[in-house]
This record gives sequence, structure tokens and C-alpha cells, in this order.
Amino acid sequence: MKYYASCPVCAHKLMKGENGTQADIRCARCKNLVRIRIVDDIVTVNLIESISTTTENKGRHCPS
Ligand SMILES: [Zn+2]
Repeated sequence: MKYYASCPVCAHKLMKGENGTQADIRCARCKNLVRIRIVDDIVTVNLIESISTTTENKGRHCPS
């Protein structure tokens, strides 16, 4: 049984794997680093390094 893991940020398809797969993959589209684990037929995708682009400046000029 093969499983597909997709980027949690941009939904780009990152890789396919099977039970026992674990990998850190940098998304080719949005450049975020995600950790993929496939255990017991469950695909887990965690964002472990976020590359801020458009969201980085949000709030910086917020008056407080
Ligand atoms: Zn992505």
C-alpha cells in the first residue's frame, strides 16, 4: 500500500511512501521544510521549518 504526502502549506505533492517511511522534505514549490512519517497506515505531515514570505511583514507595523 502506497501513501502520498502533500505539503501542508501549498498542497504540493511531496513524495509517496509506505508504512515505516520517515523523511524530511523541502517542498519544491513553497520551500518549507516538512517532516513526513507514515506509521500504522496514517500519514503525518509536520511543518518543521517555515519560510516566511508574504506573511512575514504582517503585524510589524501594527500600532500598539
Ligand atoms: Zn509547499
